[in-house]
Amino acid sequence: MSLDPLTAYLVTTVFTLLNGAVLGFIHPALPKDLQPSSADWRVGTLLFAVSTMLFVAHGASQAAWLLPLANGALLFGVALYLRSGRRYVGRPDRVWVFLPALAGVAGLVFYTLVYPQFTSRVVISSFAVFAYVVANVYVLYNYRRAHHSISSAVLIGLMVVAALLLLARVIYFLRVDNVVDITQTGNMVNVLTPILIAAIPVVGTTAFALLCFERIRSDLHRVATTDALTGLPNRRTIAERAMDAFEIARAEQRDFALAVIDIDHFKRINDSFGHDAGDHVLRRVSELLAQNVRGQHVVGRQGGEEFVALFIGADLHGAQAAAERLRSAIENNDIEIGGITYKVTLSIGVASMQPTDDDYDDVLRRADRALYRAKAEGRNCVR
Ligand code: GH3
Ligand code: MG
Ligand code: MG
Repeated sequence: MSLDPLTAYLVTTVFTLLNGAVLGFIHPALPKDLQPSSADWRVGTLLFAVSTMLFVAHGASQAAWLLPLANGALLFGVALYLRSGRRYVGRPDRVWVFLPALAGVAGLVFYTLVYPQFTSRVVISSFAVFAYVVANVYVLYNYRRAHHSISSAVLIGLMVVAALLLLARVIYFLRVDNVVDITQTGNMVNVLTPILIAAIPVVGTTAFALLCFERIRSDLHRVATTDALTGLPNRRTIAERAMDAFEIARAEQRDFALAVIDIDHFKRINDSFGHDAGDHVLRRVSELLAQNVRGQHVVGRQGGEEFVALFIGADLHGAQAAAERLRSAIENNDIEIGGITYKVTLSIGVASMQPTDDDYDDVLRRADRALYRAKAEGRNCVR
């Protein structure tokens, strides 16, 4: 192997610095809620670069005091990666995140300056990095399971490989006794170590950037498909689902029905108690509606105080029963906000798909007419 460890560390430093710089350019473009996590990742990456630079300085000068510093930069770098991961998934900041790094540095100071011993240093620093990697894998693994995130799987894979290599390295150094320094030449593991150290920030930062874009994409998707006030599917989403359901029902000769739901005398709530109270009532009604639709039925906010429920697979009879459940759920649940009890009722118009219907709008129009009748015939009823 013609590459000597010092050169490998130097190359690693340059690439890690470049990598941190790239993330620095992306940083301002990230949404505010991702920036703390991204800042940690960037500083962590810079600490990696500082660490490899100090290893080079130590290799050149043999100044013992540089070793705990170099290892300390590395340990605090991985500590920041862990905090970055925790911040990304929304876990609270905790001081204990830095304790293993601190303990590691204390151990390294001891085995460098008080009682110099190479293998103890390798064991301590590798074990601390290993602990951080395992903790980060745990954090990301739980997130991945909940969000089916591909980028976090890449990051997890990288960390698992890094952890295994670290373990193998410790075992190797415990078995050989002719190595006294990680920049000592003529040792393959000493050349591979900086490459391993470089792989974590370089591959990791790419995966982290992808993780950020995954979050942005899912946030955009949520904003585009849900209603901001109530969190229910918005008008566009309901129309899309309804069109799909309509086409499937027609192709497979199955039933499809829907309901248009309107809060009775909602304007009075706004007029008497204010717009904020009206918003609260809308949110609570939405919650109750969502809790009372069954199976593959969906309810969304059509706009204002009007909702649409899709009864996929239901005929007119089933749809009327389902709508009646929604109506009575609202009638029988007093809505209490800030000590005031609001009695809210719904008028609902139901329509089912007919063979002559061209599209979902035809069904919606009939349901609208039924709603009009429900209003005309005294409200708080299903027609
Ligand atoms: P009806 O029984 O005939 O349906 O009477 P209504 O008062 O419910 O119907 P109308 O259509 O006259 O009034 C609807 C009101 O809903 C008017 C509007 O100010 C209010 N509104 C629409 N969107 C919102 C909203 O997002 N928040 C609040 N607080 N009010 C809203
Ligand atoms: Mg109304
Ligand atoms: Mg209305």
